[in-house]
Amino acid sequence: VPETEPLKPASKPGFLARLTGRASSQPVVKRVLDDDMLEQLEELLIASDMGVDTALRVTANIAEGRFGKRLSTSEIKQLLASEVARIMEPVARPLPLYPTTPQVVLVVGVNGSGKTTTIGKLASQFRAAGKKVVIAAGDTFRAAAVEQLQVWGERAGVPVLTAPEGSDPASLAFDAITKAQEDGADLLMIDTAGRLQNRADLMEELSKIVRVIRKKDETAPHNTLLVLDATTGQNALSQVETFQKLADVSGLVMTKLDGTAKGGVLVALADKFGLPIHAIGVGEQIDDLAPFDPEEFAAALTG
Ligand code: GDP
Repeated sequence: VPETEPLKPASKPGFLARLTGRASSQPVVKRVLDDDMLEQLEELLIASDMGVDTALRVTANIAEGRFGKRLSTSEIKQLLASEVARIMEPVARPLPLYPTTPQVVLVVGVNGSGKTTTIGKLASQFRAAGKKVVIAAGDTFRAAAVEQLQVWGERAGVPVLTAPEGSDPASLAFDAITKAQEDGADLLMIDTAGRLQNRADLMEELSKIVRVIRKKDETAPHNTLLVLDATTGQNALSQVETFQKLADVSGLVMTKLDGTAKGGVLVALADKFGLPIHAIGVGEQIDDLAPFDPEEFAAALTG
């Protein structure tokens, strides 16, 4: 049974209020729950980025046993919030820490999704919790990505292992796990490339990293974290599908929930894939990573 590491609460109280999309700002008048009203609800949920399938299912669940009844706005909101919370509760789980050390966390996702930033934030939180952390800059083809990761490593006070530009990421991963083992590190986080333009290459690169890591520890990687950008909306769903083909994704971090994203896509992701949501990114600073709280999220989403 893995030990879990609670993340610090969001540094910006009330940030979830900004997640609220149209679903909350449109008044729902007290009236009979009929087809017309259900259609309106569906539209509001779709506008919150929930996606058609999930919006239809949520609406159907609300209607079950209540069709034709009169409901007030607050009753509808409550039903909606509990329906959303029911979907989200099973996936709200912090990054599990297994007894094996170093625990290897492979971090995948398209470029720009927030991988580097999330690795920096996680490193800082684990370090603050007394864990010894090592980072490997596995995107060896993007010099800028390596430099960014070094900046984050300095901020977090965590060493970042790098390799010359263009060198084999798998050999860096091998050296990194060797060093992490020698140093008695608790956690090794490996950044990876996010070039989806050439999927075959990326798949080969990721599977080679995994093969090489397994030579040192056959139970590794213990987590494969997919970082998703909330502002890409429904596109996040196809990114999960793509990365599940490329790697053995074990959990998600959703970034940029402090911006214009409506957040409903998290419900669609939970409904469709059931993958754990380990944390959410709520800003560009080192403390802007929060645990995912289903109740708070559901309340914010439904207004
Ligand atoms: P990578 O290419 O996947 O490594 O992505 P980066 O970590 O470099 O992030 C890309 C951009 O997104 C940077 O400008 C980050 O500051 C920004 N970013 C990452 N996470 C968040 C977040 O939670 N909120 C906001 N507002 N910006 C974020």
